[in-house]
Amino acid sequence: MGVHMRRPIIAGNWKMYKDTGQTRAFFETFLPLIKGPKNCEVVICPPFVNLQIAADLTASTSVHIGGQNLFWAKEGAYTGEISGEMLKAAGCGWVLIAHSERRQYFGETDETANRKIVAALDAGLTPIVCVGEVLKERESGQTNLVLDKQFTGGIAPLNSEQFAKIVIAYEPVWAIGTGKTATPQIAADAHATIRTLVRKHYGNDAAENCRILYGGSVKPDNVRELMSQHDIDGALVGGASLEPVSFAAIVNYETSKLQ
Ligand code: PEP
Repeated sequence: MGVHMRRPIIAGNWKMYKDTGQTRAFFETFLPLIKGPKNCEVVICPPFVNLQIAADLTASTSVHIGGQNLFWAKEGAYTGEISGEMLKAAGCGWVLIAHSERRQYFGETDETANRKIVAALDAGLTPIVCVGEVLKERESGQTNLVLDKQFTGGIAPLNSEQFAKIVIAYEPVWAIGTGKTATPQIAADAHATIRTLVRKHYGNDAAENCRILYGGSVKPDNVRELMSQHDIDGALVGGASLEPVSFAAIVNYETSKLQ
């Protein structure tokens, strides 16, 4: 089994941007731009209130819709929260888990990440689990330690069957929304570290099959070089996913001209 077994994923994280009208306008421009056969899976994660409309607008296309978060209970007295079952019913097939902004601003930990992954899998969603170091950790040479800790606490409690259904996103926090992309070499090294962790906990086949996305200032003009790295199986895109022409250029990275 080689790298070709791993179908690339290009995922867009809209964060807290776009109302319903802006969501409609995005798809009106975006969908015609990505017509035609392509090798990658496309996932877009709008805010909760626009998931249903995004799912409706993409129902007859190959674009998948994902939530940006979920809570682990199926239902209950949890004011303000949304369950995996609710995401599924709104037309989602995917969900982001433990994005660094969730860790930074909303107190999420490796332990809550694990509970959310299990809940997402129980609801039939594909979780994209985010890991990555902050600048201070990179500068003090702790990147591999941090990745090990996040993997061991958040992911490794999964059994092999559960693990086979998740996607991992490596997002160095210092590269998110800063315009500072990790060099392809830095990204490739971190991806190799994560794949080694997968091998250690789940074995060779799991390591060969696990898709690891890179996230952090991915743009139309750097996506191709990043995607050419052996261990990079896709991209998680924030800022550049908000603009339909940019995101289409990223989705079409194999065929579109460099911009
Ligand atoms: C993200 O939000 O996951 C992200 C990578 O953002 P940006 O592309 O804007 O750095």
